[in-house]
Amino acid sequence: MNCPKCKSEKIATIFWGFPGDMKELEKEIEEKKIVLGGCIVTDHDPKWECTACNHRWGERNDDAIDSFDYDQGYNLDEVYDQ
Ligand SMILES: [Zn+2]
Repeated sequence: MNCPKCKSEKIATIFWGFPGDMKELEKEIEEKKIVLGGCIVTDHDPKWECTACNHRWGERNDDAIDSFDYDQGYNLDEVYDQ
């Protein structure tokens, strides 16, 4: 996967919410595999962050989002245009 903006391969997964055990995450944060998104979680948080240009994209996808229709799929551009 590459950054859609600058084509960098330095992609980190954004961790949303409060990390219960920072020690578990520290190594991955250090290796820039994940970045902390913050404690305020909404239904439209991006999923990935480019650590080269800080561009964020994608959509966090977990059980908290129950309005998503898995059968229909979605287009990311359409999601952001809403
Ligand atoms: Zn980038």
